[in-house]
Amino acid sequence: MTRIITLFCIFITQIGFSQTAESYLEKIRNNEALLTAFFQQMPKGGDLHHHFSGSIYAEPLLERAIAKNFYLNLETLAVSETKPEKGNWINFDSIKKLKKLDYYEQQIMQTWSVKDYNGSVPSDDLFFDSFMKFEPTIAGHFAEGMLELKKRAITENVSYIETQLSTIPCDMNVSDLTDFNTKLRQASAQKDEKAVLKLLDELYKSLQRKDAKKYAEDFNTNFLAKLHKDLKIDDERFTMRYQNFVLRFMEPVDLFKNLVIAFISSNESKLTAGVNIVSPEHGENSMKDYWLHMVMFKYCHTKFPDVKYTLHAGELTLGLVQPEDLTWHINDAIHVAGANRIGHGVDIAYEANSYDLLNYMSKNNIPIEINLASNEFILKVKENRHPFTLYKEFNVPIVISTDDAGILRSNMTEQYVLLAKRYQDVSYATIKQYVYNSINFSFIQDASVKKQLLKDLDSRFKTFEDKFSKN
Ligand SMILES: [Zn+2]
Repeated sequence: MTRIITLFCIFITQIGFSQTAESYLEKIRNNEALLTAFFQQMPKGGDLHHHFSGSIYAEPLLERAIAKNFYLNLETLAVSETKPEKGNWINFDSIKKLKKLDYYEQQIMQTWSVKDYNGSVPSDDLFFDSFMKFEPTIAGHFAEGMLELKKRAITENVSYIETQLSTIPCDMNVSDLTDFNTKLRQASAQKDEKAVLKLLDELYKSLQRKDAKKYAEDFNTNFLAKLHKDLKIDDERFTMRYQNFVLRFMEPVDLFKNLVIAFISSNESKLTAGVNIVSPEHGENSMKDYWLHMVMFKYCHTKFPDVKYTLHAGELTLGLVQPEDLTWHINDAIHVAGANRIGHGVDIAYEANSYDLLNYMSKNNIPIEINLASNEFILKVKENRHPFTLYKEFNVPIVISTDDAGILRSNMTEQYVLLAKRYQDVSYATIKQYVYNSINFSFIQDASVKKQLLKDLDSRFKTFEDKFSKN
């Protein structure tokens, strides 16, 4: 009898823990400081939508540019290791001599990130243009960035990052294949999927003859595996995996070449976590070739069926593009490309047959990666204009992610603060579900790694929830 009573008490107390965290969250819903303290400590699992270069804060990048006496373009505030021929460039030593360093440091911080943003330039331009401006400070310095991100993740109780680390370097000469650019675009204009797939097959064979595999192997062995191992990235507190990605603005042949190499790399290394496609979706080539890109993914899936991919799709809103362009990107990412996850999906409410699409995502467990701070800054979509509730109403699996916490000067904690404050009907249990989703729907290939992260999450939640029972 005593044993039954004891067990009953344990059961009640365990339920109580969760209820206490839940009731405390309800009490603090409208106070950002209290929410911040709560979510800073809450285990947040994984960050699945994460751009490496956009996640590093501007301070260490600027510090490096100054220490290495880089050249600064006084008009654009881009930096360069050597002095480019065109433009007005001056090195940091000269800036120091002119006693202008403080002035330019402030200007650079405001151009490389959203710091003190005052609306003087369009927010999407500031955001997307910043990458190329600070890029020379990242090249060759991946190690420092990876350690910074790991340290920050541990501090805010994030146990896993799936980062889009780097494009795969490739100097393969494809000048003999440039005819395919026109042919692919012509077939694409007719929406002739059969013709596009046939052209891609010819291209694929040429790329194989040009030893595409060599570039993937070199990247996997001499870059990815080496960095990951040398830095001892994985430990009992933290795990990192790497998404390969291609750039939307490239010409079709170059893009397909990079995509094939990205798929080969992902197929052959357990450190990789799938493939993605990035850069502004509303750019000229991105819009013109969107459907073609989706067919490219479909083709690669037939060659590498085990490789997962998440696609930036529907990172668009009314006003940014013509209304017709808001009606089909998520649909085609799912139904043409066969995406395993969708990044952003902000224009879902404008999609043709959006209810069918949402039901399909829900039934087929295709998660949506929600990036609240990013969507607010770049697209000006927030609060109930954001489709978060639409995805939630249709039971689409949701993961909460940061996108580019460095440029946006945000972090994972802030995403949860915005979520809890703006969408008051999202309970603690639901938020906890999103955290578990971020591991369950990750592209980690090794089942034992995923299992360990889930087990670790259980224990982190127990520690977190215990705090409330003691108060
Ligand atoms: Zn993104």
